[in-house]
Amino acid sequence: MDFKYSEEAEAFRREFRAWLDANPPPRIDHDVAIGEFAETGSAIWQRHLEWHRTMHSGGWVGITWPKSYGGREATLEQSIVYGEELARVHAPSLVNGLGIAMVGPTLIHWGTEEQKKRFIPKILSAEEIWCQGFSEPGAGSDLASLQTRAVEDGDDFVINGQKVWTSGAHHADMCFLLARTDPEAPKHKGISYILVDMHSPGITVRPLIQMTGDHGFNEVFFEDVRVPRKNLVGAKNQGWQVANTTLAFERSSMGGGSARDVIGAARELARLARRVPRDGGTAWDDSSVRQQVAQFAIESAALRYLNLRQLTRRLKGLPPGPEGSGAKLVMSDLTVRTAKFAMELLGPYAQFEQNAAFALEGGKWSYRMLGARMMTIAGGTSEIQHNIIGERVLGLPKG
Ligand SMILES: Cc1cc2nc3c(=O)[nH]c(=O)nc-3n(C[C@H](O)[C@H](O)[C@H](O)COP(=O)(O)OP(=O)(O)OC[C@H]3O[C@@H](n4cnc5c(N)ncnc54)[C@H](O)[C@@H]3O)c2cc1C
Repeated sequence: MDFKYSEEAEAFRREFRAWLDANPPPRIDHDVAIGEFAETGSAIWQRHLEWHRTMHSGGWVGITWPKSYGGREATLEQSIVYGEELARVHAPSLVNGLGIAMVGPTLIHWGTEEQKKRFIPKILSAEEIWCQGFSEPGAGSDLASLQTRAVEDGDDFVINGQKVWTSGAHHADMCFLLARTDPEAPKHKGISYILVDMHSPGITVRPLIQMTGDHGFNEVFFEDVRVPRKNLVGAKNQGWQVANTTLAFERSSMGGGSARDVIGAARELARLARRVPRDGGTAWDDSSVRQQVAQFAIESAALRYLNLRQLTRRLKGLPPGPEGSGAKLVMSDLTVRTAKFAMELLGPYAQFEQNAAFALEGGKWSYRMLGARMMTIAGGTSEIQHNIIGERVLGLPKG
């Protein structure tokens, strides 16, 4: 494992840091990590959007993409430095996360020249916000069981079906959608990857409210929605391969950013313990509390090394390995356990909601407790990550 960054990456850090110093990000008080979880038009959404535009005007969106499509052709190492610098200044997330992390890179790989020219500039500028229409009521972990149908009719596909857990569909202008185009073929071979205008007639978006009170998800219904055939990405019935490109980009975008959050959380727990009154002093006076916080810090450091091992592997030109599943599993488990420990520390204060009067630290820990579980589900559940590790790392028989 290599712990040092190259001079090229450090030069990149200096350039980006100087730009961030000149263009400091806005402060987002609400403890929402994902811009998509804010309501359209709300002050929080607006601040995320403005930050996105500022970053775009500086040329700091889609940095790994080819220069011909508005990127900087940043190396993998530079993209890690980029994430570190954004975390250092507590920058809010960009509003078009799914466009930038998932469909943009997929189009660069699979899209026609016409599709790249049409869609990529507006992904970067956030003029068009994207959502991901993959999961359905009967197709999550077993995504290839999806039932939404797309039938060719002249120059169009006609789409009927339902998607669920569609993050940010209430903001979205476009959706990258998986639909079944050959119901007779084996399930992985009859799927197509289609780009759908969310303003088309026949689309209904219904909110799903999480237990945090946020509106992040939606159900999306498609009734005879017409989509031009030119919006097909890859060949007809080849959508499973295209989707796998998107999912690989999703997983790689999740691990790093969230891992940084977990490392920061151990520090925040130490600060919290110093504030929670206990037995005439603070919780920090209790050695068992200090030991538990130290344990979280150790596990966070181990997670960082796991990520560096992954990075070293990729810098050697090897494809992402099963370390990604290990890192995602550790990160999501740590997120849940740190939130639970904060609840124990807070005792009766844990019952205050975010922003409630008398809540310690604005009630952010109870908000995080309610939100922590999502990381064990999104991007492949913990059970699925266990299966991957069992089969591909430990060589166990398929479950
Ligand atoms: C925060 C968040 C954001 C999301 N955003 C989107 C989005 O924008 N677009 C989108 O399309 N989807 C999105 N999803 C959906 C997500 O991809 C699915 O929830 C996930 O794939 C799991 O599918 P499911 O909910 O249908 O659960 P199921 O697949 O029905 O699983 C139910 C339970 O069974 C277990 N299980 C299933 N199969 C196996 C197996 N083979 N072995 C062992 N255990 C198994 C699972 O681990 C789980 O505990 C999002 C989810 C979350 C939490």
